[in-house]
Amino acid sequence: MTQIGNGNPRHRVTMPSGTEVVLSWSAVSDTGHRREVNEDSFVAQPPVFAVADGMGGHAAGDFASAAVVTRLAEHGGEAAIGTPELDRSLRLAVQDMGRGAGVTDEGSGTTVTGVALGEISGEAAWLVFNIGDSRVYRLIGGVLEQLTVDHSVVQELVDAGQITRDEADTHPHANVITRAVGFHEAPLPDYRAIAIEPGMRLLVCSDGLTKELTSYGIRHFLLSNPKSEQATRALLEAALGNGGRDNVTMIVVDVLAITRSEAVHSA
Ligand code: MG
Repeated sequence: MTQIGNGNPRHRVTMPSGTEVVLSWSAVSDTGHRREVNEDSFVAQPPVFAVADGMGGHAAGDFASAAVVTRLAEHGGEAAIGTPELDRSLRLAVQDMGRGAGVTDEGSGTTVTGVALGEISGEAAWLVFNIGDSRVYRLIGGVLEQLTVDHSVVQELVDAGQITRDEADTHPHANVITRAVGFHEAPLPDYRAIAIEPGMRLLVCSDGLTKELTSYGIRHFLLSNPKSEQATRALLEAALGNGGRDNVTMIVVDVLAITRSEAVHSA
């Protein structure tokens, strides 16, 4: 388990356009009750908040998730980042995993998902990215929405109408992902950009959370804990209380305020 960055109750970021964003965030990771080691990793420092869930046996999964968050963390302190930089970090992480060959014969791999502060045509935005079945959710106005689409066998079955969303969670192939970072392949993230809005809350998490809590449960704990640190604590306790069958890792990011550059200039 590699942990880069900590929580921060209030942090101001000035974007290249002059837009100011005030964030609060908290991150936690736990081995859970069943696994011997924690193969999840995270980076929680602007401009990147990301979770990686490694796979491939003890050292291999840990090595893979560490490689990804370590490369992403190299952007720490930058005001904004774009998809070319994220792509490059993931490619370098795959190279790093290759240099660790011998950890396992089959190579190693990891999921990755997260949000990054970026600007599109001068407008501040969150870049949401994912490979695998770790997820990003957005809570705004009391509405919880999953922003990422899993790269998994069961997601494909759901999309094809062959099983329901509820059946997916208990399906025998519930843990089989169809895309990963690693295994000597070029990483292929899905990207989407969303507006940065005051009062919005983002949850970045590994499947150790979403396999233990329904979206209803996740929404409940996000709504009933206004501070990000309380929210991560409550969600972790709930996941462990429901079994803690996998490593549980999450980051909660709150947008406390955003002042667009026009307002900054006219102030
Ligand atoms: Mg997992």
